Amino acid sequence: MHFGTANAVQVEAPETGAYLLAIVEVDKADRIQCQAEGCGHSVYKRIHVVLAGLKFKVLGSQCYERLYGQASAAAPQYGSGTGRLLTAEERLVLVENTAAFIEALEAERVELERRAAAHVARQREIELAQAASRPAPPPVPEPERPQHIARDARSPLYEGGEMLRWRWRGSEALAASIADYQESPSHGPFHARVMESFKNQRWPTPYSFALDVEVKHCLPKPYIFRALDELNLIERTQQ
Ligand SMILES: [Zn+2]
Repeated sequence: MHFGTANAVQVEAPETGAYLLAIVEVDKADRIQCQAEGCGHSVYKRIHVVLAGLKFKVLGSQCYERLYGQASAAAPQYGSGTGRLLTAEERLVLVENTAAFIEALEAERVELERRAAAHVARQREIELAQAASRPAPPPVPEPERPQHIARDARSPLYEGGEMLRWRWRGSEALAASIADYQESPSHGPFHARVMESFKNQRWPTPYSFALDVEVKHCLPKPYIFRALDELNLIERTQQ
């Protein structure tokens, strides 16, 4: 008798990576509890907000070092590594709904990008107006852009705070969507990649899924949400 690999049960490896999302600080008088298992210390400086496995966690810097020491040199996804001091209101959101806290940071990032883009557009208008009074310069080639990223692929439905309004469809609907895809794969942008990632693991929310795929594949979350929607894997909540 021998043990072939064919019958071996495929055990999915647990998600071991932790994504450092933000480093923040709260008022000393209003410390918060480190959420590392068995720790329970109150912390206020250099609080690390991470997505560990499938959960958001708020950790003191010592526990973060202890648990994820090798990754500790990484810069957080949002903000700088200096640890911005939170207002009392922000602190409350961080403690009571960490996902919403991270969502607010994402919305802030989207807004900053929008403003930066508007600024660039204004500069360009000024330059064009100036250029109009001079002899025409040689044409500037359009920056190369991957064909599969259409400019209109983004929609407000998949941006900022809207991302938290999506949830997974029910398990029967999900199974049907997956079966449909397997029977006749759609070829929309990123469908194959998103479906592949989706099948590998169960995620508590589409947002945590998108965050993970974004980090692993450098694919902006709005594109991931669009693909999830087109693949009939998610639906909007009413609240
Ligand atoms: Zn701790």
